[in-house]
Amino acid sequence: MYEVNSIDALEVLDSRGNPTVQVTVTTPVSIGKASVPSGASTGKREALELRDDGERYRGKGVLTAVENIEEQIAPMLIGYDVRDQVGIDKTMLELDGTEDKSSLGANSILAVSLAVSKAAAAAVDLPLYVYLGRPNDVKLPVPFLNVINGGEHAGNDLDIQEHMIAPVGASNFSEALRMGVEVYHALGALLKDRYGPVATNVGDEGGYAPPIDDPIEPFELILEAIDQLGYTGEVKIAVDTAASEFYTDGLYSFGGKELESSEMVDFYEMLIGKYPIVSLEDPLAEDDWSGFKEITTRIGEDVQIVGDDIFVSNPTIIERGISEGVCNAVLLKVNQIGSLSEALDAASLAMSSGYGIMVSHRSGETTDDFIADLSVALSCGQIKSGAPCRGERTVKYNRLLEIEKELGAFSSYGLSKST
Ligand code: PEP
Ligand code: MG
Repeated sequence: MYEVNSIDALEVLDSRGNPTVQVTVTTPVSIGKASVPSGASTGKREALELRDDGERYRGKGVLTAVENIEEQIAPMLIGYDVRDQVGIDKTMLELDGTEDKSSLGANSILAVSLAVSKAAAAAVDLPLYVYLGRPNDVKLPVPFLNVINGGEHAGNDLDIQEHMIAPVGASNFSEALRMGVEVYHALGALLKDRYGPVATNVGDEGGYAPPIDDPIEPFELILEAIDQLGYTGEVKIAVDTAASEFYTDGLYSFGGKELESSEMVDFYEMLIGKYPIVSLEDPLAEDDWSGFKEITTRIGEDVQIVGDDIFVSNPTIIERGISEGVCNAVLLKVNQIGSLSEALDAASLAMSSGYGIMVSHRSGETTDDFIADLSVALSCGQIKSGAPCRGERTVKYNRLLEIEKELGAFSSYGLSKST
């Protein structure tokens, strides 16, 4: 009743119009369907996303990944019990045989891995967040909504990639989402007023992409929108700088200047002194470990320092970060490591070391809402899925509304204790 009957793979499109892999796993009693997201500001040590090269889709086709699933992975997994997630992931890792999943492709392995977990949850008749998680300790996450896009995700001149709002003062998830959406729309009106309608065009993650270049201005605008609505103190600000994108030869090309690592930290120190900032993700580049150590030591007591490109959701690298006192939180992106069980290992490691976890989407997304359930299963208290705009972003927030309704009083809301 729980055995894999079939595994079917298909090349579909992501939110940027690039191909990605979708997989459907069936058992005699259930179906699990999953698709894989894709980053633009990717870490160098991420598991490899297999692309076809050549002319189709400007080299971004995934037919080889699809073929790997149908011709290599599927024949190996037919008959496996879908509840054996670790065994199934291990079998695929062994079949691949490389450190970075470059033989089969992390997109092939992850699509199967996620679809298997959905087929298993359906087969045992449990919601995914219960099947994956700890039903006695269920927390709905704070949505970190990306309201101004820059960097690789927008066609403007802002160096910082993501300016987010976090309604930490809400009493539950649906209230948080409503407050966040209200701030998003108030900000849109402010932008339109100040720079004309063009300023409300959106970037890859649905945040506005206004034609500004001053790195401070987005914070002023966001604060103004928060204050206008009377949410001062309840809606805070968070940042993903994605600093690897503008780091060359030991210097940061930031805000029109060339800055040393310590000068970047000076900038953040000023920023958190002036604005209600609760979280800084990738404030420095993935290779600048000493800079990360410095920022964690200097301001890590006051603000969350989240490692994304530097950790790439990889337990071995996270372990190094923990032992060196680098960051105090991990960004968890399932496709960075390439299988569900390894992503869960990364989460356990972070949790057991008192590191926070923020579950994350990618800039290239699909309408798969897997990460919503994952964030509740981990009860980690934080998710980022872009702006409350564009279907592939809102589908995750909408799934969290459903979970909140389903759980009723048997859930809480907010950041976890370790954050
Ligand atoms: C990020 O950097 O956190 C992000 C979501 O962007 P990307 O998917 O492009 O890495
Ligand atoms: Mg990031």
